[in-house]
Amino acid sequence: MARVYNFSPGPATMPNEVLVQAREELLDWHGSGMSVMEMSHRGKAFMSIAEQAEADLRDIMAIPDNYKVLFLQGGASMQFAMAPLNLLRGKVCADYINTGSWSKKAIMEAKRHCHVNIAATTEESKFTEAPAQAQLTLDPNAAYVHYTPNETIGGVEFAYVPQTGEIPLVADMSSTILSRPIDVGRYGVIYAGAQKNIGPAGLTVVIIRDDLIGHAGENVPAILNYKTQAENDSMYNTPSTYAWYMAGLVFQWIKRNGGLTAMAEINQRKARKLYTAIDDSTFYSNPVAPESRSWMNVPFTLANAELDAAFLAQASEQGLVTLKGHRSVGGMRASIYNAMPEEGVDALIALMVAFEKHNA
Ligand SMILES: *Cc1c(COP(=O)(O)O)cnc(C)c1O
Repeated sequence: MARVYNFSPGPATMPNEVLVQAREELLDWHGSGMSVMEMSHRGKAFMSIAEQAEADLRDIMAIPDNYKVLFLQGGASMQFAMAPLNLLRGKVCADYINTGSWSKKAIMEAKRHCHVNIAATTEESKFTEAPAQAQLTLDPNAAYVHYTPNETIGGVEFAYVPQTGEIPLVADMSSTILSRPIDVGRYGVIYAGAQKNIGPAGLTVVIIRDDLIGHAGENVPAILNYKTQAENDSMYNTPSTYAWYMAGLVFQWIKRNGGLTAMAEINQRKARKLYTAIDDSTFYSNPVAPESRSWMNVPFTLANAELDAAFLAQASEQGLVTLKGHRSVGGMRASIYNAMPEEGVDALIALMVAFEKHNA
């Protein structure tokens, strides 16, 4: 069996150790005689798994007590709807910062529920930078400010947390959660689809400040109401039990490996190496402004796009896979989440250097 270096943007590579542990526990979890995926979500065994996962996530992210942690389904895309459905609190407008494909989808959904004020957009620069704080035009009547700290497709990241005063900040952290320590207290709501930096697809983590729960309108379906989910400990209906368990194993893996401070150090080093390799060559390029470059998703193009297929084929031969860029950007994209070992990035850089030598 040979494991490849999988640069997929999501579902994405998982830590080897976690997969090995899951395999060991697959048929018989801790002497229960059954697999986690066969357990009742209301039974003692799964309840302990669920509680431990939440406790570990609270620990590694230092989540304050006045925040609920929800383990939902529906992906980040469902949060595009749940945010306006729950957070308007009688207001009619919300601020959205538009920095790329995922912001746009969030905006499109929000427009079905409220007036959307575009607080800033970087569309004119083809989404190659994050706007500065001074460029944000915030509406004082907005119910909340929504942004995408890391745009997974464009590889654009905010190097700062927008200041919004008393207005709650809502962040789609799907592709950057757990990549570094953050101050959760700066946010009203943080949400993330699990399949990038947390675990398998099918799970969505929502971290929400208590006072923002309980404001959904009468017509909001119970299952889409944060209050229902919070009151039922994310078990209003059957949750995504196996993905929840796997996420828990990942949280423990992060704890064992030095927590988010250590993750941040390694992630920054991996990203810096890769951007340096790109910038040091005239063959590869990345269009993103240096201060807005993502640590997690690194798009790059070859000087001659006709060589893309050859590059991908050679990469694949060497066990470096899923490097094809998003169709809207072209070229390549290396997603280098927590679980991508530094050796994977080193191998990619070695390939890039060799490929350039042969083809430039
Ligand atoms: C992947 C991704 C999404 C979509 O997630 P789903 O779980 O497929 O709904 C939304 N936002 C960002 C930033 C993403 O990276």
